[in-house]
Amino acid sequence: MLRGMDFAPSETLQPLLDKIQRFVTEEALPLEPTFVGGSFRAMLPELNRLRRRVKELGLWGPQIPKEHGGLGLTLLEHGQVSELLGRTPIGHYLFNCQAPDAGNMEILISHGTPEQKKQFLEPLARGEIRSCFSMTEPELPGSNPTLMATTARLDGDHYVIDGHKWFTSAADGAAFAIVMAVTNPDAAPHLRASQIIVPTNTPGFELVRNISVMGHAGDDYATHAELRYTNVRVPVTNRLGHEGSGFLIAQERLGPGRIHHCMRWIGICERAFDLMCQRAASRELQPGKPLGSKQIVQAWVAESRAEIDAARLMVLRAAWTIDTRGLYEAREQVSLIKFFVAGVLDRVVDRAIQVHGALGVTDDTPLAWFYRQERAARIYDGPDEVHKMVVAKRILKKYGVTA
Ligand SMILES: Cc1cc2nc3c(=O)[nH]c(=O)nc-3n(C[C@H](O)[C@H](O)[C@H](O)COP(=O)(O)OP(=O)(O)OC[C@H]3O[C@@H](n4cnc5c(N)ncnc54)[C@H](O)[C@@H]3O)c2cc1C
Repeated sequence: MLRGMDFAPSETLQPLLDKIQRFVTEEALPLEPTFVGGSFRAMLPELNRLRRRVKELGLWGPQIPKEHGGLGLTLLEHGQVSELLGRTPIGHYLFNCQAPDAGNMEILISHGTPEQKKQFLEPLARGEIRSCFSMTEPELPGSNPTLMATTARLDGDHYVIDGHKWFTSAADGAAFAIVMAVTNPDAAPHLRASQIIVPTNTPGFELVRNISVMGHAGDDYATHAELRYTNVRVPVTNRLGHEGSGFLIAQERLGPGRIHHCMRWIGICERAFDLMCQRAASRELQPGKPLGSKQIVQAWVAESRAEIDAARLMVLRAAWTIDTRGLYEAREQVSLIKFFVAGVLDRVVDRAIQVHGALGVTDDTPLAWFYRQERAARIYDGPDEVHKMVVAKRILKKYGVTA
């Protein structure tokens, strides 16, 4: 542990956490059964009503700086909020801190021009529009995005974008995409691409399909799209940062983004853990013999508790390190939490489903939704194997292993 490290919520944060916990329990959870089996678009009126409530309660945009209408929390503070919101699949959306919008807001704040901020950031921060982030391509490995086929060719004061992307989450209904495209094909691999803002009503932007993931294509925000960009013309002024800075900006986005995901996953773990314990206490195999009296279930309870607690401490430490020492100092910790917490999530939700028996795979509890949606946690934002390799190489280098 490092000097000055203190995860206790401050006197101002604690009342906020209490308020959020109450809102999630009393107002968000009742909406969940409709969400888990149903259509996101059909639920928008109800979701928007709750978004207005979040604003009324003064809880809107916990991670958004105050000058852009949010609460301006530090990463450590937002991590603690994110855990509470993660207990329900709609939590982050209600507070306008959902991926990928949260990450897009962050890069617009740090790299957007005043005009880009006015046109794209401000309505996004107010929750009037949504956005998406379009980097991964079906034909090339997302684990090595420097291999990218999408190009943005200069033509006067415009870029002309051509490419094929997929798993652009939340593209359905988004007002704009931030697209990674090769602008400098002759540069070094990490300096070849730029991030360019493409309004989704630009001619040539085509949503081919919402990809069916684990049997569900979803709709509106709850989707992952395949997209085609054909002769898409946007002004050069839509580029974020300088030409060739795409990967640099993507790295900046991913550090805090992984903390957000990890704390959301811990919220999911806590919810699954709670449901598992409730079921272990209430389901009787024989009169007076609840499931929780079986040693194997007790082991799952104990192992899950230990893993969730360890995961939380690791994530808070990484958030604290980013807040106080910067992303560079925290890069190893960020890789550690990305694969470790995704693994804990996978195991805890799986155990909770097992304890529920057949009920666990229905949509009568949120467990199956968590399982379907979050299996991908071990793949997106860098698959487990890549993060393990990065950390292990760095460690083993100190022992003389350089291969
Ligand atoms: C639900 C979901 C949402 C997503 N949202 C977005 C989004 O909004 N925008 C976007 O641009 N992308 C998004 N993605 C894409 C995601 O970033 C990629 O799936 C990820 O980068 C992996 O790329 P890939 O799928 O091409 O797998 P590949 O690169 O083909 O890798 C396949 C597998 O190979 C293994 N592997 C890879 N590298 C190594 C290595 N070095 N050593 C050993 N094993 C290795 C891993 O097990 C990996 O899972 C999303 C993906 C999912 C599943």
